Amino acid sequence: MRVIVLLGAPGAGKGTQAAVLAPRLNLLHLATGDMFRAAAAAGTRIGLEAKAYMDRGELVPDHITVRMLLDRLTASDATHGVILDGFPRTPAQARALDVALDERRSGVEEAILIDVPAEELVRRLSGRRLCRAAGHIYNEVTNPPHVPGECDIDGSELYQRADDQLETVKARLDQQIPELLDVCAHYEAQGKLRTVDGMRPIEEVTEELVAALSQPSESRA
Ligand SMILES: [Zn+2]
Repeated sequence: MRVIVLLGAPGAGKGTQAAVLAPRLNLLHLATGDMFRAAAAAGTRIGLEAKAYMDRGELVPDHITVRMLLDRLTASDATHGVILDGFPRTPAQARALDVALDERRSGVEEAILIDVPAEELVRRLSGRRLCRAAGHIYNEVTNPPHVPGECDIDGSELYQRADDQLETVKARLDQQIPELLDVCAHYEAQGKLRTVDGMRPIEEVTEELVAALSQPSESRA
């Protein structure tokens, strides 16, 4: 069972990359946010436990996330392994994951950082626009509409959510980037960190990662 951790700041294209990579490598794309929602919807005990925290607006504790993740790894669609997207977010979570995988005589094979400079992240995140009619998503930087300020699909006006405004975006990154670097340091110390340049086109980054992850590695059984 292969466990690949995909790391990147918000706006680095981590989710996009994981979604493309997973089928190419015959791995399951496991986004923790989706996993929480699915477990809560399925009404499993642990799913409801996690949901109770989320409903109160609290973070789901690490031990619950790790347990849910390990449960998910035993499902038939995860036989060959997983690409983790959105976990671990802190060194404590990274350690908890190491311990849990170690108990199953497994481990993280590789952690991949999609590296994008902070200024570019700010530019991408604050470029997000939604249409008033149906919430169609655009990005002035990466996915602009054909007519500026107008939805391609329904012609309605595009607006910026408060969450995507410059100062909010900067504050969010200031909070998340140091934790991301700490998680990177955790895997770097284990010799498992690979950094890819996230400023290149998505397809190029994908090809580099497919080539790298298709090579046999010593840590893989
Ligand atoms: Zn629209």
